[in-house]
Amino acid sequence: MKQRCIECGKEYNVNEVVYTCECGGLLEIIYDYDSIELDRDSFKGREFGVWRYIELLPVKDKDKIVSLKEGNTPLYRCKNLEKELGIKELYVKNEGANPTGSFKDRGMTVGVSLANVLGVDVVGCASTGNTSASLAAYSAKANKKCIVLLPEGKVALGKLAQAMFYGAMVIEIAGNFDKALEMVRKLAENKYLYLLNSVNPFRLEGQKTIGFEIAEQLNWDVPDRVVVPVGNAGNISAIWKGFKEFYKIGLIDNLPKMTGIQAEGAKPIVEAFKRGDKDIKPYDNPETVATAIRIGNPVNAKKALDAIYSSNGYAESVSDEEILEAQKLLARREGIFVEPASASSIAGLKKLLEEGVIDRDERVVCITTGHGLKDPDTAIKACEKPIKVKDMDELLKIIKN
Ligand SMILES: *Cc1c(COP(=O)(O)O)cnc(C)c1O
Ligand SMILES: [Zn+2]
Repeated sequence: MKQRCIECGKEYNVNEVVYTCECGGLLEIIYDYDSIELDRDSFKGREFGVWRYIELLPVKDKDKIVSLKEGNTPLYRCKNLEKELGIKELYVKNEGANPTGSFKDRGMTVGVSLANVLGVDVVGCASTGNTSASLAAYSAKANKKCIVLLPEGKVALGKLAQAMFYGAMVIEIAGNFDKALEMVRKLAENKYLYLLNSVNPFRLEGQKTIGFEIAEQLNWDVPDRVVVPVGNAGNISAIWKGFKEFYKIGLIDNLPKMTGIQAEGAKPIVEAFKRGDKDIKPYDNPETVATAIRIGNPVNAKKALDAIYSSNGYAESVSDEEILEAQKLLARREGIFVEPASASSIAGLKKLLEEGVIDRDERVVCITTGHGLKDPDTAIKACEKPIKVKDMDELLKIIKN
C-alpha cells in the first residue's frame, strides 16, 4: 500500500503526511492488488458498512478504527420517477442515511482512523457544511480537537448546528469555501492540524465504498451509469476508483459511465468537459442555492475529469430552479427528502434524458449526497405556508373544501 502521485508517479509511504506530491499533483492510494484475495463470497456473513471492505482500505488495525456505523445506505428502486422521467430502471443511493446525514461520514471514518494511526490530536477542514458536521462527530468519538473553517453566512442551518453541537471549534471566514480551504491548507502545511478535506486521498478511500455497495446491492450487475453531484469533485473520483478496483480484482465485469452534475453558477468542471480539457478554469464567485456544491476551484478536478473521460461519461450543469424542482419531485414521488445539492443528480438526469445524452433504456443510479433536514430554510421557502385554524368549525370548513 502506497500513496502515488497521479501526475509524476512519485510514491510516498502511507504514514507520511503529505496531502499532495512535491510536484503539486494529487495523490491516490494504491494497493498490492495481486495479493488481495477476494471473491463475491468473501463478503458473506460480514457486517455491512464501510469496513466490510477492509482489504481495500488503508487502516487494518481494528483498535484504531473510529466508526459510527456509516455506509450501508439504502439503494431505492424509483418506479414513480421512472414513469415521470421516462427511463427504464432508476435507483437512488441515499447517502443522507449516514450517521451525520451525508456521504462525508464514509470519508471521515477512514480519515479519522488514519489520524489515530498517525497519532495526531488536532484535525481540521474547510467546509460548505457537511464535511464540518461529519468531522466534528468523528473527532468527538476519537477524542481529538476539531477546527472547522466555514464561509460566513453560507452554511445551511442544520450543518452549522451539527458542527457546533458536536463541539468543534467553528470559525467563520469572510469569504467563500475556496478561500476557507486555502486558509486551512496553510494551517495544515504548518502542522497546526491534520487536514481532512478531500484533497487528503484517505478520505476518498472511504467514499469509494459507495461504488462497492452499489455493485453488491445490484447483485454484482453494475449499472450503465452513475450520476453524482459535483462540488470539490472528490466523491465522483472516489466512486470511480471503487468500481475500478472491484473490476481489477475480478468482482465485476463492467464499469459505469460516471456522470457529474454541477450547478450553473459553479460549473468549472462542466466547462472543462465541454471544451475537452483536462484542466479547469476556476470561478472567483461561485453561486448557487445548493450550498454544498458552491465551489469555484474544485481540488479534485483532475481526478474527476479523468473519471468522466475514461468511463465515457458526461458532465452537465443545472439551474437552481431545476435543482429545487427535482428536490420536490424526489420527495413527493418517492418519499426521499434530500438537500438541494443532492437533487442536482436527479435534475441532471432529467436534463440529460431530454437532451438524449442518457438513453431511456439505461439502468441508472443517482447518488443523493445529503439529507433534506440539513437545509430546512430552503425547504420551507419552497413550500406553501401551513394552513392556520382557530377552531373545529374552521378546520371542518377547510377539510370539506
Ligand atoms: C460534499 C457534498 C457534495 C460535493 O461532493 P464533492 O466530493 O465535494 O464533489 C455534494 N452534496 C453534498 C450534500 C455534499 O455534502
Ligand atoms: Zn508528482
